[in-house]
Amino acid sequence: MLSQYADLCAAHEDALVLFQVGDFYEAFCEAAETVARVCEVTLTERSDSTGTYPMAGVPIDNAAPYLESLLDAGYRVAVGDQVEDAEQASGLVDRAVTEVITPGTVVDDDLLENGTTNYVAAVTGDRSGTAGSDGADAGGVHVDDRDAPDRVGLAAVDVGTGECLVTSGGVDTIGEELDRIEPAELIAGPHAPRYDPSDADRGWTHHEYDASAFGRDVAMAQLEPYVSAPDRRFGTDAELRAAGAVLAYAEYTQGDDGPLEYVSRIRRYDPRDHLRLDAAARRSLELFENRGLGASETLFDAIDETSCALGRRCLERWLRRPLVEADAIRARHDAVGELADRTLVREGVADALGAAYDLERLVGRISRGRADARDLRSLYATLSAVPALKRTLAGEETLRTEHLRELCDRLDELTELRELIDESIATDPPQEITEGGVIHEGFDEKLDELRETERAGREWIADLEASERERTGIDSLSVGHNQVHGYYIEVTDANLGKVPDDYRRRQTLKNSERYVTPELKEREEEIVGAAERADALEYQLFVEIRDRAAAETERIQALADALGELDALCSLATVAVEHDYVRPDLLDEPDVGIEIEGGRHPVVERTEESFVPNDADVPRGSIAMITGPNMSGKSTYMRAVALTTVLAQVGSFVPAQAARLPVFERLFTRVGASDDIAGGQSTFMREMSELTEILHDAGPNSLVLLDEVGRGTATTDGRAIARAAAEFVHDELEATTLFATHYHDLTDLATERERVFNLHFTATREDGEVTFLHRVVPGASSSSYGVEVAELAGVPTTVVDRARELIAEAAEDDPDRSLHEFVGEADANGDEPDAEPDSGADTAADGTGGTRRRSDEIVAELERLDIARMTPIEALNELHDLRSRLDSDE
Ligand code: ADP
Ligand code: MG
Repeated sequence: MLSQYADLCAAHEDALVLFQVGDFYEAFCEAAETVARVCEVTLTERSDSTGTYPMAGVPIDNAAPYLESLLDAGYRVAVGDQVEDAEQASGLVDRAVTEVITPGTVVDDDLLENGTTNYVAAVTGDRSGTAGSDGADAGGVHVDDRDAPDRVGLAAVDVGTGECLVTSGGVDTIGEELDRIEPAELIAGPHAPRYDPSDADRGWTHHEYDASAFGRDVAMAQLEPYVSAPDRRFGTDAELRAAGAVLAYAEYTQGDDGPLEYVSRIRRYDPRDHLRLDAAARRSLELFENRGLGASETLFDAIDETSCALGRRCLERWLRRPLVEADAIRARHDAVGELADRTLVREGVADALGAAYDLERLVGRISRGRADARDLRSLYATLSAVPALKRTLAGEETLRTEHLRELCDRLDELTELRELIDESIATDPPQEITEGGVIHEGFDEKLDELRETERAGREWIADLEASERERTGIDSLSVGHNQVHGYYIEVTDANLGKVPDDYRRRQTLKNSERYVTPELKEREEEIVGAAERADALEYQLFVEIRDRAAAETERIQALADALGELDALCSLATVAVEHDYVRPDLLDEPDVGIEIEGGRHPVVERTEESFVPNDADVPRGSIAMITGPNMSGKSTYMRAVALTTVLAQVGSFVPAQAARLPVFERLFTRVGASDDIAGGQSTFMREMSELTEILHDAGPNSLVLLDEVGRGTATTDGRAIARAAAEFVHDELEATTLFATHYHDLTDLATERERVFNLHFTATREDGEVTFLHRVVPGASSSSYGVEVAELAGVPTTVVDRARELIAEAAEDDPDRSLHEFVGEADANGDEPDAEPDSGADTAADGTGGTRRRSDEIVAELERLDIARMTPIEALNELHDLRSRLDSDE
């Protein structure tokens, strides 16, 4: 057995092999130690002629949690099943790897969340000689581009549903796409840059994959069964090669049984076909994940009123890829509008969809030959919902909107398949498909005959006890059955004298004897024979029916798509009605800006008892400079505007009284480092690299949110950076921008620059308490709003006045403060309100002459550093160095 195990291990070097032994999956030797450790199961031993070796196993019945632990720990698991009936095997049972479970290719429902996607992606580069990338280092994704290809091909497949996406682009564009797709696993081919997830918690596991799979000819052959003329289908060589490799990998993980027929929806797209939202924006807008920045939910939670997994997945896809094509967006708005207006239709549709199972995953299982009879019944239940759905939609009144009519037409009833399943598959079948009970009575004559023979035989046996008691006159005679001897007649010792001649003794017990008769034996064989043949016939019939369902894969998938879209639209309509959203007026003309009346933050408005709606009027290409005290609502306001445009482009109505919006192509959001502490990445370096990305990539069709830019560093630098960035955004990019800042003097820009205007938030005192009105008003806030709030809060007048004095002094000093002066001064009088608490400034604050000299030296050193040319690690090392010099002198 061990050598068989070793063979499988050798054939699946990169995986941990689990080996079926009876009811357990076992691992041996080194792998056993891993399994024992990761799964927290006992390490045991097994001995055979070759010796004694460690063994650890998990129960097959309840393998899911253990497999999950192994995947979480970064292992891939090759499952070696017994592929031969243990009873029929002569010697060792044959075993083969039927599946390799990897993070990106799990298909087991126990290991996947409902209504989600799970992708494995492949990337590979094309190189034509000149190395280059399409912009700056993507702020979110770390890209090591020393060996940068011109163009990177990306292919991602969801092995559960068969969805396959293919695209290509520059190094950074693909990094952005990876962050959008969030594959669970990434395989890299030759010349692919190393992509690491921008968020390690949600990121992918990364590994190199057989380079030959990425070869052009190999990929062509690989793709042949999936698409016709692959070389014409894909935009670039890199796309073709990535698609070939990812499908090869997917097949490998599914046991290498040939093409995955249900991967028939291979969609090639251009990243520019969607609103580009990179990881940093998705994160700070909390589209899918809550970062604990004020709100307790995500935008997705706020708009998810879907009734089934198909709709949930569809809505998720939509939110990952808002549209940029105005007509397509308006078509969704039309549909949402009609569903919002027609309550009965909407509720009827939601009701019918509530009965729908996850067709996408079902069809995947059916096509892979992994579906059981219950899956087919689920398919039936889903298909059965379709006629009612069509009736609801096309009911009394005809549908007003084209989009809904078209969706209704796409609802394929698949009547024949539905009827076939209903006639053939038992209503409540068992999970096992080899032990009978899966095929409906009356479906197959031969099967019914066999079952009748079996039934008649059992009936005869059931009657046997009574008839034998009568024949023999033994009242205590009984008929029983056990695994070893089959049916028997049992007579107690006291009655042995009455036993007839035709009884043959089988077994002697303590106080009784067990017998059979020739007729009983014959009947028994008949029953067992009929049952076995019936079970086998049922299995065969089941497989035939499953194959017939598999033959309809494409139609079922098309139906799944239509159901998903319908559900997503219904969900948006429900949200619109329940939360009072309005249809945005979408205009794709170049000079249209944002005009929102009474806009709300879709998530915060649900948690805040009384949310204050605000208008937003931001002409195209202008900068709204937003000031106001801490906690006054600046960030919420900006995010509300961004989320409103995202929702609009998803096809949703928006949380406002009225909205007139342009179609943006890109959305950037940057939150000053110290404001993003929850992101766990409060480094100024990161803030700056993200800013770099905006300054490179934003343009007239971008919406840019800059929230407290520059906050991650000292005031002087931060203010300078914020101002320079604002000027650049205005002068060079002409991006429509919302700029929240606590650097009050930035409001001057409104007078210096044509397209900059000021907005601010204020606070008042009511009943002795400071109250934020959360209402945005035109103009700059009073320069000393911090002090104002202090005053409102009741800080003694002397302190407030002194603070005002200090501010005035600081303002005078400010313009020509050099870095040198700053360090000295900040240490001396501690007036550095925005320094990071652990910036180390206080270490040198003892005011002795020695410290002064030391800090002078260190300042000089700092000035010599060429920060622009340092990597973050070098910077950290340098910082550590400087710091330890300070410490060692103490
Ligand atoms: P700032 O960015 O100015 O520091 P935030 O936008 O983070 O302020 O808002 C602080 C808190 O105030 C939010 O967490 C929210 O609870 C509340 N808030 C913000 N805007 C509003 C509003 N329009 N209506 C009601 N509450 C609001
Ligand atoms: Mg804020």
